[in-house]
Amino acid sequence: MNTNYAVITVGGGIVGATAACAVAQAGIKTALIDTRNPLREWPEEPVDIRVSALTRASQNILQAVGAWPAIERRGIGPYNHMHVWDADSAGMLDFDAADTEFAELGHLVENRVIVASLWDRLEALTDASIICPAKVADIQLDSTLAKVVLYDGQILEADVLIAADGRDSALRQMADIQTTGWEYNQDGLVATISTEKHHQFTAWQRFLPEGPLAFLPLKNGQCSIVWTLSHQTAQEYLSLSDEEFLQRLTQASDGILGEMLDAGLRGAFPLRFQYANQYSAEHFVLIGDAAHAMHPLAGQGANAGLLDAAAIAELIIKADQAGRPIGSHKLLRQYERWRKGDNLAMMSSMDVINKMYTNQHEGFRQLRGTGMSWINHSHWLRNYFNRYAMGLRGDLPDLASTKAV
Ligand SMILES: Cc1cc2nc3c(=O)[nH]c(=O)nc-3n(C[C@H](O)[C@H](O)[C@H](O)COP(=O)(O)OP(=O)(O)OC[C@H]3O[C@@H](n4cnc5c(N)ncnc54)[C@H](O)[C@@H]3O)c2cc1C
Repeated sequence: MNTNYAVITVGGGIVGATAACAVAQAGIKTALIDTRNPLREWPEEPVDIRVSALTRASQNILQAVGAWPAIERRGIGPYNHMHVWDADSAGMLDFDAADTEFAELGHLVENRVIVASLWDRLEALTDASIICPAKVADIQLDSTLAKVVLYDGQILEADVLIAADGRDSALRQMADIQTTGWEYNQDGLVATISTEKHHQFTAWQRFLPEGPLAFLPLKNGQCSIVWTLSHQTAQEYLSLSDEEFLQRLTQASDGILGEMLDAGLRGAFPLRFQYANQYSAEHFVLIGDAAHAMHPLAGQGANAGLLDAAAIAELIIKADQAGRPIGSHKLLRQYERWRKGDNLAMMSSMDVINKMYTNQHEGFRQLRGTGMSWINHSHWLRNYFNRYAMGLRGDLPDLASTKAV
């Protein structure tokens, strides 16, 4: 096996596999390492409980790296409206694709669909190698290159080592990069639900005292829910019978989609606010959840990670085309400056929103109600938040801003 690469990416989830596709399709020799092979095939039903709301910017990136056609073929659920309302005040917000130049605000896609389509694409690229299953035992970073030591004793070398190995990144620890953050003591409870009324291609989100409850419209007419609850309540709800769970859900949903008829598997994910104090070191960068973990209330974690992947790929490709070194710390710091501020701003807004809506103080309730009505009645503000939610604001990488779709 070859042991020298220009770029090695560790972690072939949504974010790492995208970065690997982007650099490999530009003719840069790259390897993707993961501990496990992702699923490529499964029965059509049931829909998986892990689903992502992808923004227009993410769709552009996935289109530009050649994975979107396979994602579309495997199945996507468009949504063209968003309705947000507060259980404790009269505040509500509506966003509609009709206010934009696009037919929809975004798409709901199963995570396994995105990952399988990216891996299919990677296999078709001559400059990409997949090393899997393989686990990284150690890394060595110095001023000349990055070395990756695998558990089977093999040593691989690269100009740039991209760590995309998720929230508990082992590579981040190996690179001695510290994190800042805290546990929310909240879980995101997820399930696939059949509802009495059709979802109308709308993403519904109700803010409740323990956290938001979102109904995300799926291609088959069902909804994927993300219900933020205290850790204790989430664990209790996981153990309820289907009937009891559906009753609580109908009540919490304010009957917006009628009765809740059926629930498939349920799962709960502990939520954390966490960011890496640095995104880069000599010949090394962090992307995706390895760099930042945020509250899922606006469904932005994978979207932010895809922007990281597009940004680092763009810098590497441009440096390579100009004959400049792709692993210099100067270049990798440029990536850090580009993405860290944006990600911190996004994570902090999610954090503030979560705190505002779980605070039952009368002053906060009034402020929420007034603030939401204010935004809802201002065309300019709604438009601003619309474009923010679609990922089309800020300093976008080329792959995200191409009008490829
Ligand atoms: C309830 C919930 C709902 C969410 N909804 C949304 C949403 O609607 N929209 C959105 O944008 N985001 C959403 N997110 C966030 C999103 O799921 C994550 O941000 C995203 O999946 C992170 O992707 P990643 O590729 O960075 O990491 P991961 O998905 O964690 O992938 C890491 C990969 O690295 C591999 N790996 C780990 N360790 C090693 C190792 N040592 N060696 C080799 N490989 C390794 C793993 O096998 C895996 O393939 C949600 C999160 C939660 C909890």
